[in-house]
Amino acid sequence: MYFDTHAHYTDESFDNDRDETIKAVRESGVELIMNASSDNESCVKSLELSEKYPFIYSAVGWHPHEAKTFTKESEELIRRWCTLPKVRAIGEIGLDFYYDLSERDVQRGVFIRQMELARELKKPVIVHDRDAHAECMEIIRKFPNIKGVFHCYSGSAEMAKEILDMGWYLGFTGAITFKNARKALEVIEMCPNDRILIETDCPYLAPVPHRGKRNDSRFLPYMAQKVAEIKGISVEDAAEMTYLNGRRFFEI
Ligand SMILES: [Zn+2]
Repeated sequence: MYFDTHAHYTDESFDNDRDETIKAVRESGVELIMNASSDNESCVKSLELSEKYPFIYSAVGWHPHEAKTFTKESEELIRRWCTLPKVRAIGEIGLDFYYDLSERDVQRGVFIRQMELARELKKPVIVHDRDAHAECMEIIRKFPNIKGVFHCYSGSAEMAKEILDMGWYLGFTGAITFKNARKALEVIEMCPNDRILIETDCPYLAPVPHRGKRNDSRFLPYMAQKVAEIKGISVEDAAEMTYLNGRRFFEI
């Protein structure tokens, strides 16, 4: 029983075998997928996937890389898309000061605008934070009534504590299986069981022993295994626990 709470099945790396892959994923025991979007085109494609597959839900939003393409019209589109039954979150949104593919001021403005939309539309948010921990915190503190998840959490245990105190969730990818994952493992240890989500972020971040290959939701058991080890529970219980957390968070 698995819920992949952050995937990108609209990515072009699935263009040649998207339907076969999604079918194999479903048959492997993955019950739910939250497909995250990055820009106008990926939102439209994600909504098509959600329409085609009952077990795929969508998050709509502009990734910090694509902040430069966000316009007044994008806001109207998000408003419209959020009325659709399969749209359950705004995301992924946030700041990426590692790649800096959009100007930092533009990233900040678009992140704040989408947080305002989430407040208005009463949707949870999926936050992408790369090398921008302090600034992401500064922004989310201004929205105490919004519920969110830090996907692929990469901050400290101290920052995690503040996020958890706000009622937010933390998402963990295949990166928790990498050799250098010590910090993330400490965070999982201190994170209450009912706030942990697992995700692939596919096609990126395939877990060990598949690191470097194209990722898909069939690899979620590796993330569940890691959570199970740290929490001292069975893999099945870790899978079920994170599945139920995802359903509660996205109200599915
Ligand atoms: Zn992502």
